[in-house]
Amino acid sequence: MTTPFDDDHLREECGIFGISRHADAARHVALGLHALQHRGQEAAGIVSFDGARFQAHRAMGHVAEAFESDKVMADLAGYAAIGHVRYATFGATILRNVQPLFADLSFGGFAIAHNGNLTNAMALRRRLVKTGCIFQSTSDTEVILHLVATSQKNNVVDRLIDALRQIEGAYSLVALTDSMMMGMRDPLGVRPLVMGKLADDTIVFASETCALDIIGADFIRDVEPGEIVIVSDEGITSLKPFDAPKPRFCIFEHIYFARPDSVVEGRSVYDVRKHIGAELARESGIDADVVIPVPDSGVPAAIGFAAETGIPFELGIIRNHYVGRTFIEPTQQIRNLGVKLKHNANRPQIEGKRVVLVDDSIVRGTTSLKIVQMVRDAGAREVHMRIASPPTTHSCFYGVDTPERSQLLAATHDVEGMRRFIQADSLAFISMDGLYRAMGAAGRNPAQPQFCDACFTGDYPISLTDHWGGDEDQSRPHRVKAAG
Ligand code: SF4
Repeated sequence: MTTPFDDDHLREECGIFGISRHADAARHVALGLHALQHRGQEAAGIVSFDGARFQAHRAMGHVAEAFESDKVMADLAGYAAIGHVRYATFGATILRNVQPLFADLSFGGFAIAHNGNLTNAMALRRRLVKTGCIFQSTSDTEVILHLVATSQKNNVVDRLIDALRQIEGAYSLVALTDSMMMGMRDPLGVRPLVMGKLADDTIVFASETCALDIIGADFIRDVEPGEIVIVSDEGITSLKPFDAPKPRFCIFEHIYFARPDSVVEGRSVYDVRKHIGAELARESGIDADVVIPVPDSGVPAAIGFAAETGIPFELGIIRNHYVGRTFIEPTQQIRNLGVKLKHNANRPQIEGKRVVLVDDSIVRGTTSLKIVQMVRDAGAREVHMRIASPPTTHSCFYGVDTPERSQLLAATHDVEGMRRFIQADSLAFISMDGLYRAMGAAGRNPAQPQFCDACFTGDYPISLTDHWGGDEDQSRPHRVKAAG
């Protein structure tokens, strides 16, 4: 969870959920979004359909607050609904950017919710505006809505495919019309999307399996990269209208974003994180008295590290889960206290000991610096930092909010420079091959990497048209576009 005081972690991205042909669709979506709250805490929305009309409710803040009113839920009555939790990675956080987006198009109502970022949204938007399209939001997702609206194809599925062929970037989408619900992923499958079903065979789409668990749905399978799954009166239809390049799933979902109780792309997130900790221990184990995780995402890796080294594991840092977003004015002085609002040292577990701290990543380095200081203040004799990811040297353009490259500590410092910055006695990161081994691979295949790992390598698998400048320049390398 991110708070205004925590400016040193990669922000979560977005979560999506959809259910069709269920009498209580919107309440199930609200529950699903609640389980996906870790993926976005800024805003939430649901669009439902009752057979005659679409209803929408969008609000800033957490799911529980957005959908606590009985009236809101009653107004969302219907047999199909899609929903979204948002952390803004593109477009300001204002109500008109909150998803799902909805428009009345020539063929009827169309609602869409998006996890990811389009990397040619600005170029497409300029083109669409020139042809007379009027945008209501600054969200990249609205580009898809306009592409569907202006497509010359005859039916909604062909219009959607037409739209997807023009967009670049990372996307998992759920869409709703008056006759069908659709779930789809980009051709490289960068962002996750799973399918599940309730006991009565109701089909559900969700960003992660933890959102299936909360409503008692069974996991069926991942929506495949480049696949469009359609749920309608005719049953379930799978389309694969695009070229099938090798998938490049976001490796950071496993390190940090996904909930540890989710199974992502066939792998238990919890197990992967423990494997990462064990690899990290094999690569850079150290003589110490106690292994302490930086909660929460460092916990499974610290368990793996401790098991591999035999060093006792203790909860030496306790996290306050109830740090509100607005309970106190975020003045600069309060911001400086940030890490103490969120974390506190458990002194008896630390005093007089040589401590290994395990965290998931270092972004700007400011939180690591404060945590190392906090552990020293609690009486640690030595503080050794171990990081369950390689150095984050590049920004993400595929739906994860990362600072500018110049703000990333690893982009401007080598490991020794980073160690000095965070004032640890030693600092080590898992190697890239070690990370891939923890994922069950022999190592990273440099000719054909098995995952997106661009924030560690700069090897961006999807073209960055907007960021390179120019209008959809066809000559750029790494151009991955949906093709027929
Ligand atoms: Fe994930 Fe990093 Fe790739 Fe972004 S750049 S999709 S965070 S691996």
